[in-house]
Amino acid sequence: MLNVPSQSFPAPRSQQRVASGGRSKVPLKQGRSLMDWIRLTKSGKDLTGLKGRLIEVTEEELKKHNKKDDCWICIRGFVYNVSPYMEYHPGGEDELMRAAGSDGTELFDQVHRWVNYESMLKECLVGRMAIKPTVLKDYREEEKKVLNGMLPKSQVTDTLAKEGPSYPSYDWFQTDSLVTIAIYTKQKDINLDSIIVDHQNDSFRAETIIKDCLYLIHIGLSHEVQEDFSGLYYRKCQLISKEDVTHDTRLFCLMLPPSTHLQVPIGQHVYLKLSVTGTEIVKPYTPVSGSLLAEFKEPVLPNNKYIYFLIKIYPTGLFTSELDRLQIGDFVSVSSPEGNFKISKFQELEELFLLAAGTGFTPMVKILNYALTDIPSLRKVKLMFFNKTEDDIIWRSQLEKLAFKDKRLDVEFVLSAPTSEWNGKQGHISPALLSEFLKRNLDKSKVLVCICGPVPFTEQGVRLLHDLNFSKNEIHSFTA
Ligand code: FAD
Ligand code: NAD
Repeated sequence: MLNVPSQSFPAPRSQQRVASGGRSKVPLKQGRSLMDWIRLTKSGKDLTGLKGRLIEVTEEELKKHNKKDDCWICIRGFVYNVSPYMEYHPGGEDELMRAAGSDGTELFDQVHRWVNYESMLKECLVGRMAIKPTVLKDYREEEKKVLNGMLPKSQVTDTLAKEGPSYPSYDWFQTDSLVTIAIYTKQKDINLDSIIVDHQNDSFRAETIIKDCLYLIHIGLSHEVQEDFSGLYYRKCQLISKEDVTHDTRLFCLMLPPSTHLQVPIGQHVYLKLSVTGTEIVKPYTPVSGSLLAEFKEPVLPNNKYIYFLIKIYPTGLFTSELDRLQIGDFVSVSSPEGNFKISKFQELEELFLLAAGTGFTPMVKILNYALTDIPSLRKVKLMFFNKTEDDIIWRSQLEKLAFKDKRLDVEFVLSAPTSEWNGKQGHISPALLSEFLKRNLDKSKVLVCICGPVPFTEQGVRLLHDLNFSKNEIHSFTA
């Protein structure tokens, strides 16, 4: 699959590397990291062979460039010469070659519609397609089904009308100072975290999730606004504070723009975007609450303005080392949320088991807060938190305080590289550790196990959970 990456690392045996079952990555040659690619694009070398000229590319022309040393690919109507990029592509040359001489938009979107290929490949831009390729047209039709922008009823197309009477519509009215948009739907339980509203310059956007569909309304306010609906929408957020949580993990607080409403649903992540020496780099992160303890909690107001992140800084990490250099007041772009965790999993839940490793703890933060305050049926919550050393444990004292305060919560720390003073549990995730930890308190109770951490940890954990007879419905694993 076409996979323009946001990273060239991890190293082959790194925990960050997607293992079997996930997206395959190939080891890159020395000197072919993402940073090396960025350097090459800045070197002034002619990467397209066109000496900076942009041309109109016909379909016939595109088809001719289908070899490794002469490979053009079209993404969303723009044609790139990706031959110089081949050796830098973490998905490998073969993956890129699948789209050689053709429209790779669909392949690209299957893998990473959030990756900033425009920025990453800007020096490889050959030009625009002369005629819209049919695949691109198909892509847009496909998109309409997912992001079927709400239209007043009269404008609803046949296909959309067929989708049934519950299809939402909207209306708006305006005073001198206020524009009110009313969305009409039959769904009763819409809450604030299913609505995202952004207002930037002259553009107004509202995204809302109704049933399992995402609807987008986008209005140019005073004059026409051209917007690319593909990919994720980003808004610039300001760094408000940065606080050490462990020796390498920090709590970042970002403030949303004044006219944005966005609440990231439990279990979902966003993408953060930063420019690293002129190239936009994007990585996923899972927002957390400001704290686990009620007295420190940020006010959960409808106009909640802050997003918190617990982020581990890797000294040689491309994104995190750049993030760590930001000063208070600097800006980071934040995407709309994504993820497939469903809050309905908590309905009537009696026992909740959380298995977290390292920063895989991040999705568990909101889950813990929500589970302990909003699920009346819940009898027991158990967190098993895997780390290398005691110093790596995120929010240890908060977790201990919370477990002391709420007797339904048990927390166990497991260390893979403890000092000799550690007298708690040791080792990696294993059948012995899990079978003891996951004993159900009640027969036939409604149970959910959530697991998140490095890919090998999560994959191994899910296998062990199946061996212990947990059903698919009872397991939620967090992955990209
Ligand atoms: P990378 O550049 O990708 O490096 C990753 C690893 O490779 C590091 O160990 C680094 O030391 C090593 N490396 C870098 N350069 C070299 C080199 N030259 N040689 C050898 N090794 C090298 N992380 C969080 O901290 N908090 C979160 O909330 C969070 N949420 C996530 C949610 C999802 C859905 C996913 C998939 C991941 C999440 N992550 C989270 C991980 C995050 O997306 C990044 O992968 C992580 O921050 C590392 O990014 P980086 O660019 O700094 O590191
Ligand atoms: P780490 O290197 O500090 O390791 C923490 C623990 O994970 C270790 O003590 C060990 O018990 C376990 N572990 C590590 N490698 C393992 C392996 N190969 N097999 C079995 N167990 C292993 O972890 P970290 O640096 O904090 O990394 C956290 C990981 O969690 C990252 O890969 C990050 O991408 C991922 N993450 C994913 C999501 C998500 O998918 N939603 C969210 C947050 C973090």
